[in-house]
Amino acid sequence: MAKRDYYEILGVSKTASEQEIKQAYRKLALKYHPDKNKNNPEAEDKFKEATEAYEVLRDPKKRSSYDKFGHDGVQGFDGMGRGAYTDFSDIFGDFDLGDIFEGFFGSSFGGSRSRSKRTRRGSDLQYDLTISLEEAALGSEVQIEIPRLETCETCNGTGSSSKSKPAVCPTCNGMGQIRQTQGFFSISQTCPKCHGEGKIITSPCKTCQGAGVTQKKRKITVKIPAGVESGSRLKISGEGEQAPNGGIAGDLYVVMHVNKHDIFERHGNDIISLVDVSFTLVCLGGEIQVPTISGSKVKMKIPPGTENGQIFRLKGNGIPYLGSYGKGDQLVKINIAVPKKLSSRQKELLKEFDTLSDEKDSKKDFY
Ligand SMILES: [Zn+2]
Ligand SMILES: [Zn+2]
Repeated sequence: MAKRDYYEILGVSKTASEQEIKQAYRKLALKYHPDKNKNNPEAEDKFKEATEAYEVLRDPKKRSSYDKFGHDGVQGFDGMGRGAYTDFSDIFGDFDLGDIFEGFFGSSFGGSRSRSKRTRRGSDLQYDLTISLEEAALGSEVQIEIPRLETCETCNGTGSSSKSKPAVCPTCNGMGQIRQTQGFFSISQTCPKCHGEGKIITSPCKTCQGAGVTQKKRKITVKIPAGVESGSRLKISGEGEQAPNGGIAGDLYVVMHVNKHDIFERHGNDIISLVDVSFTLVCLGGEIQVPTISGSKVKMKIPPGTENGQIFRLKGNGIPYLGSYGKGDQLVKINIAVPKKLSSRQKELLKEFDTLSDEKDSKKDFY
């Protein structure tokens, strides 16, 4: 079958600008893309044809050769015959074709977006930190020690011994990317030999065996903001593992685990505490000293007639709202302590008290 004219395929004139060619191809590619036309060989042929035409006309060298010699003029060019290579990021630019290309290109589409060498990123690290409720409520500074990969000091992260320099990768010629045929055209992939670095180490550094990083223990001071709770994650940027060859370091995540407290119980940003008071105090009323999470004690009034289990609210004595203003409250729950050992004098007085109560109140209320 005779090949159709490339300009005719794209529907542009022989004098079309680069921009016009690109736009025309983009239209056709979106229309006939195989993922949008499943089991449609006609669309697939059209897509292939348009891609081939675009691959030639976008390149000034190939275009002029095609203009002079027709299809014969572009046969020998790289990429032709085994399917045209096309950098889709050029064509689609700001189009979000993630869905369309998913499965078709796999993850390698992302790699072909940028022709530059891949920048490696170190792994993120997680550290589980157990703190007291006081530390969570008031905030604190804690020093932790984490084992992590750091840039090798011997080779400065290059992975090469000082006598030799890394050689240009022969597989990708230093590009870090290789073209691979998939289906009817080729795509760009990270070079498997050099993992996208573009160079390979011929004489590895003895300290790190060529990895560019070594395992170190690093002390880090963690500032715990007031208000954290169990499960809170603190991100410390750049304190994760270092990537080899001057890549970007990962992040460190410190996950909080707050211990249970003997007397304080946390409910959201409120703190609940149980306070023992004597039965005479709740009868007569008075003032007590209540311990708070900050360590100090505050005075609290107990009105006469306070009942067991009654709750008093100490405003603003709770836990600060993380990343915001204000604090929760402290809820003080009254627990009336019943005396277990009484002296004979105390017993006497209580009996007298009971007799007086009998006279004052009706028998219906007391037994
Ligand atoms: Zn090294
Ligand atoms: Zn390579």
